[in-house]
Amino acid sequence: MLTTLKQIVQEVSRTPGLDAALNRLVTLVKAAMEVDSCSIYLANYDKQHLVLTATNGLDPEAVGKVCIGFSEGLIGLVGQREEPLNIENAHEHPRFKHYPEVKEEEYNAFLGTPIIYQRKVLGVMTMQQKDMRRFSPDEEAFLVTLATQIALEIANADMLGELIQSESLALPSGPKTVNGVPGANGLAMGIGFGWNQQVLLSNLVNRRHQNEAYEIIAYRDAVDITRAEVKQLSAGLDESLPDDIKAIFTMYDQLLDASSLGREVEQQIKQGWNAATSLKIVIENYAARFKAMQDPYMQERAVDIIDLSNRILGYILNPTKQARQFPDKPFILVATEITASMLAECPSDMLKGVISIHGSQNSHAAILARALGVPAIMGISSVLPSLLDNKMLLIDGYAGAITIAPEPQQAREFKHLINEEQLLYAKIDALGNEPSITQDQHEMHLYVNTGLAVKHDLADNDNIKGVGLFRTEIPFMQSDHFPPEQEQYELYRSILQVNPDKDITMRTLDVGGDKPLSYLPIVEDNPFLGWRGIRLTLDQPEIFLVQARAMIRASEDFTNLQIMLPMITTIAEVKEAKRLLKQAFFEVKEESNDPHSTLMMPRLGIMLEVPAVVYQLPQLAKLVDFFSVGTNDLTQYLLAVDRNNPRVSSLYNSFHPSVLAVLQTIATQANTLHKPITVCGELAGDPAGAVLLMAMGYQKLSMNAYNIRKINWVVRSIQLQQAQQLLSEVMQLEDASDVKSRVDAFLETHGLGGLVRAGG
Ligand code: PEP
Ligand code: MG
Repeated sequence: MLTTLKQIVQEVSRTPGLDAALNRLVTLVKAAMEVDSCSIYLANYDKQHLVLTATNGLDPEAVGKVCIGFSEGLIGLVGQREEPLNIENAHEHPRFKHYPEVKEEEYNAFLGTPIIYQRKVLGVMTMQQKDMRRFSPDEEAFLVTLATQIALEIANADMLGELIQSESLALPSGPKTVNGVPGANGLAMGIGFGWNQQVLLSNLVNRRHQNEAYEIIAYRDAVDITRAEVKQLSAGLDESLPDDIKAIFTMYDQLLDASSLGREVEQQIKQGWNAATSLKIVIENYAARFKAMQDPYMQERAVDIIDLSNRILGYILNPTKQARQFPDKPFILVATEITASMLAECPSDMLKGVISIHGSQNSHAAILARALGVPAIMGISSVLPSLLDNKMLLIDGYAGAITIAPEPQQAREFKHLINEEQLLYAKIDALGNEPSITQDQHEMHLYVNTGLAVKHDLADNDNIKGVGLFRTEIPFMQSDHFPPEQEQYELYRSILQVNPDKDITMRTLDVGGDKPLSYLPIVEDNPFLGWRGIRLTLDQPEIFLVQARAMIRASEDFTNLQIMLPMITTIAEVKEAKRLLKQAFFEVKEESNDPHSTLMMPRLGIMLEVPAVVYQLPQLAKLVDFFSVGTNDLTQYLLAVDRNNPRVSSLYNSFHPSVLAVLQTIATQANTLHKPITVCGELAGDPAGAVLLMAMGYQKLSMNAYNIRKINWVVRSIQLQQAQQLLSEVMQLEDASDVKSRVDAFLETHGLGGLVRAGG
C-alpha cells in the first residue's frame, strides 16, 4: 500500500496545474482502491462552501458547479469535525443531503476525510461505493494518509496558481498578500530581485508560452551548448576515474543525441508549455520510469538524467550565463536562503528589504537583516522566489506580510507609513548620542553585536560601551577556506585598535546549526542538537588553537580583548577550553621573545544558551570572568522549538513565561555571584524585551548597531521603577501573547508604539 501511495503522490505532484493534478489523483485513487467513485471538494472561505473540484465516478458535469455549505451534508460534516467519516449507508445518515446534480443516488458506502494544512481545512476527499458496506480500516488509513500528503501540494498550488494565473494570462493582476514570519521590523517597498540562484527542475514553476517557435529554438540552443559542455567535460576526464563515472558522460552524450528526447520536449512545447516546463514534464516522466525499474543501477540513473536536464535548464533560462546585475532602483532581495555573502554583495543604498523563503524569526539570515536595519520576512515556503522577481513588493516586517503588485492607492498609503517611520527614526537618531539613562537616573550599558562591519558599527556611536558579541564565524563563512592565523590576527587586531578603551568580546567560532561552512560540510539529522560551537572546536583543537592564538597575538599592547565560548553545556568544556587558551597564550608569549611583553591573558566568558548551565551557575562562575545570555538559542532549547523552522515559528517566543522566568533566575543569580552579565541575544535589541530585561536586573545589553539608538530611546523614555512594576505584572500572565500585548501597551503609553508596529 505504501508503494501505491508513494506512486500516486509522485505522479500527482508531477502533473502540471492543480485541476489536472486533482483529476489525475481521483482517477488513480479510484483505480488503486477499486472503489466506484473518488472526489475532491475544495474549500472557498470567502463563500463559506466546498466546491466539487474533481471527480471520477460522480457526474463530471457537476464539477465547479456543486457547492456545499460548510455546515451542510456529509461533506460539510467531515470539514467541520476535521476527522474522517466512514459510513455504510450514506442515505440513512441524519446529515445526508441530496444533491441531484452529482448523481450519487446509487452510492451507499461513504468514506470522507478532510484535507488539512497547518490547521486549516483545504477541502474534503471522498470515496464512495455502490455496495452497502463499511470501508476497511486499511482503506480509511490510506485515504487519511493520502490527504495529509496531498495537502501540501494543494496549499502550494493554491498560492502558486493564483500568482501564475494572473501572470501568464497577463491579467491586470490584483494585489496578493502572502504571510510569512516577521524577521526584522520595518517597512519597505521596492522591486523584487530574485537572487540568481540555480533554478532546478524540481523548483521550476510551470508556465505557458506566447511564442512556440521561439521556445523551440531556445530549447535546441540550450541542448547544443550543453552538448558542447558535456563533450568538453568528458574530454578532460582523468583516466584514473572509475569506469562508471566515465559511463555517465557517455550516457549523457547518447541522451542528448537521442532524437526521442528532443521530439518529446518539442511535443510539449507544441501543447503550449514553455521550453523549461516542457523539459521538466518530459524528464520527470523519464526519471520516474527509471526509478520504478527493479535494477538498482537503473534506478540510480534517474539522478543522472535529472542532473543533465538541470544543465540544459540552466541554459534555457540564462543562455549566456551573464553576471549578476542588480537593479538600479530600490529593491527587495528574494532568495531561498539569504546568506551573509549575498547581503555583502548587494548595493546597500538600493537594498531595502529581504525575503527569505526558508528560515524563521531568529535564523541567522534574520539576525543579519536586523543588523543592516533592513526589514525582513522569513519562511514563506509556499512561494517560489521566481514569482516575486521583478514585481512591486510592499513588505511589513512588523507583521510579516508581503503585498505583491499593490494597487497605486495601497502603495501611496504604504509610502506614507514609510515616511512616518523615517521621521520617527530621525527623531531617535537625533538623541542617539545622549547617555542611556532612565528617567529615574538608572544607567544602562549598551554594547554592539557585530560580525560584518565591525569598525563601522563601533565608530558609529559614542554611547556604545563596546562590542558585546563579535560573531567571528561570519568572516569564516565569507571565506572558502579556514582563514589562516595571520589573516585572523590582522582582522582581530584592526578591531581591537579601533577603540582601545572599549571592551571587545570575541566569540570563538560558532558554526554548525544554521551556520554552515562550505569547506566543512556537516550532515546531521538534528544540526541544532549536534556538532555546534564549542563542541566542534574542542573536537578540532587545531581550529580552536589557531583562532585563540590569533586573538591573543592581536591583543598585544591592548587590554580590551574578552574571549567568549559559545554553546557551553558542561563544566568540562570550560576547563578544556581554558587549557587550550592557556596553551595558546604561553605559545604566543614564548614566541614573542620580548622580555617586556605586556601580553595579558584575556578575560574569559561563556554564553548561557543551553538550559543545562542555568543550574550550574555557581560552579561556572568560579571558572570564568563573565556570562552572556544568548536568548536566541536559550529560547530554542528551552521551548524545544527549532529557531529556523517556520512551521513552529508561532511557538518560538522569548516572551514565553518560562523563558522569562529563566532569564529572571539567571539575572538574580549572576548578581548574587557578582559575576558581570550581558544579554547578547536578539531579545536585548527588542524594545519590549529590553524593558523586561532591565527590570530583571540586567544592566548590560548587547544588540546590533541599528537597534542601539532605538533601545537608547526606550531607556531614556521610561523609569526603571515603571519597568519593574510592569515585569511583576507580566510574570503573572500565562501566555507569551498576553505578555507581549501588555508590554506593547506599556510602550504605547510611553510614546514608543512606533517601534513595534507600522506607523509613527
Ligand atoms: C544566541 O543564541 O542568542 C546568540 C547570541 O548566538 P547566535 O544567535 O549567534 O547563535
Ligand atoms: Mg547562540
